[in-house]
Amino acid sequence: MIIVAQPERWQQRVRYAMDIDMNVETNQFTGKQKLEYWNNSPDTLKKVFYHLYFNAFQPGSMMDTRSRRQGSIILRKDRSGKDVADWDQRVRDRILNLKPDEQGYQKIIALKMNGRPQKFKVLETILEVTLDKPILPKTKVVFDMDFQAQVPLQIRRSGRDNPTSGVRYSMSQWYPKLCEYDYEGWHPTPYVAREFYGVWGDFTVAITIDKKYILAGSGYLQNANQIGYGYETPGMKVTRPAGDKLTWRFVAPNVHDFVWAADPDYVHISRKLKDSLIVHVFYKPTNVPASQWEGLLDMAQKALPFIEKTFGPYPYKQYSFIHGGDGGMEYPMATLIISPGAAVHEFMHSWYQGMLGTNESLYAWMDEGFTDYADERVSAYLENNTGFALADSYAGYYDLVKSGKEEPLTTHADHFNTNFAYVASSYSKGAVFLEQLGYIVGAAVRDKILLAYYRLWRFKHPNVNDFMRVAENESDLELDWYREYFVNTTRTIDYAVDSLWAENGKTKIRIRRIGMMPMPVDLQLSFKDGTKELHYVPLNLMYGEKPVEDPTIPRKVYEAWKWTNESYVIETDKKLTDIVTVEIDPSFRMADIDRKNNKLELKW
Ligand SMILES: [Zn+2]
Repeated sequence: MIIVAQPERWQQRVRYAMDIDMNVETNQFTGKQKLEYWNNSPDTLKKVFYHLYFNAFQPGSMMDTRSRRQGSIILRKDRSGKDVADWDQRVRDRILNLKPDEQGYQKIIALKMNGRPQKFKVLETILEVTLDKPILPKTKVVFDMDFQAQVPLQIRRSGRDNPTSGVRYSMSQWYPKLCEYDYEGWHPTPYVAREFYGVWGDFTVAITIDKKYILAGSGYLQNANQIGYGYETPGMKVTRPAGDKLTWRFVAPNVHDFVWAADPDYVHISRKLKDSLIVHVFYKPTNVPASQWEGLLDMAQKALPFIEKTFGPYPYKQYSFIHGGDGGMEYPMATLIISPGAAVHEFMHSWYQGMLGTNESLYAWMDEGFTDYADERVSAYLENNTGFALADSYAGYYDLVKSGKEEPLTTHADHFNTNFAYVASSYSKGAVFLEQLGYIVGAAVRDKILLAYYRLWRFKHPNVNDFMRVAENESDLELDWYREYFVNTTRTIDYAVDSLWAENGKTKIRIRRIGMMPMPVDLQLSFKDGTKELHYVPLNLMYGEKPVEDPTIPRKVYEAWKWTNESYVIETDKKLTDIVTVEIDPSFRMADIDRKNNKLELKW
């Protein structure tokens, strides 16, 4: 069966040219932004929307209000008996207490479309522009904007003067950014510290700043030999222009965002990993010793061949690990991390956030979950760990189920009732989704799916159906039931070994489905003589079976288990007294919420 998914979906396109002048005394900057916008949709656009993320860092903002509300939700007690509240410890009620010179803002001074002034309204973190003339399908317009901004004290992701790292500027979400318009319409999502979704395009960014500052960011520095600071061509003399400020000129092709960071004391090291890729590390030896930052170059060098083979090629010419932000946060060609521990996870976002670019608000699990999955596999490779690499994700998912706070993965990221459920769902359950897919279709087939997904959907904003169609095409199995149960609902899996008995010199074993979610069943028998058998019962909704995964164990394939049926009897030619263990899914990849009834050990 050869079916192409539908990767030729239209999408909008942008080209930003920005000129920024930063004042490091006031932490304010002025900006000019020219935005070319291609309306490739079949629709006539009467409005456009921009994100104004910095406006979230004002007392009473939606981010502030929501954070304080989460503070009133008590999740559990900690070890010392104190209440653990649901708010992000970095945010808490800190926004409420920001002084005027610590708050963030983005003010729009003027906005024109094709030279004509436009009417606009600032709705906190969203700018709504009502156009004087609509943008017709298949046409391009040019927006010219003058804006002014103040960098907030760092509360979440972006900002200045992080107390832990001492990094002066973490400049993410720093410019007025056009919202994405796609087959579902506009996505003007007010910022509550959650997810992102952007339009792909080309960025040209010129940043003028105090000469003592060292910058790191998305994109390629165009005037490296005027700048120096480790960017210069080896052996070239650096000639800086006169004056107190320097202008750094970056270009970043085919990305959906642009981040930068700046500090006068950054140490900058770099290494060429292959002809077309240089990896940079920018750090301050403050909260983490220099040696750990230096280790990132070796890590990247060792990991890259494995990563590209497993998840697809990295197409850009540079990547920067930048000491900044408040945890770990991904951006095109760069990450802001507070310590090197987050490096692998953030680098793997280059695939799922950077290149696939799902609408994270709707499919946070396809970004964070798939990234966590990739992180755990890459980390296992780096550590030569041959055990169950996804153990942490499964543990996180089981905790979520036990908490009773689980919400379906289809929940919009901003609207989960608790941060706890959002994190455990999108990271842990999202990672489990892929590992468990390997259980259903076979691990080798799952790996083919990942590469095909990357090939077909890179730079195209896939959604869940797009992924499922690729998975079905590559596996030759029907998988809609998997999405319907595991993504759309919170139903859980529980299979049990029910009973076994001797019959006509053979042995019969009854397996029982206790949970509401049906699955195919791998049942492994091991015998006194050291041999094993795998009894494989596909689920009827799959309309097929997975290939043999372990050729060293003989496999018997049964007729499919009808999902309506609660039990199934399998049979082995071996005698009952020869059996040592009976175990459902010895690989632990099926997210069975009660493993106690999966295994029977027979003592004779
Ligand atoms: Zn992440």
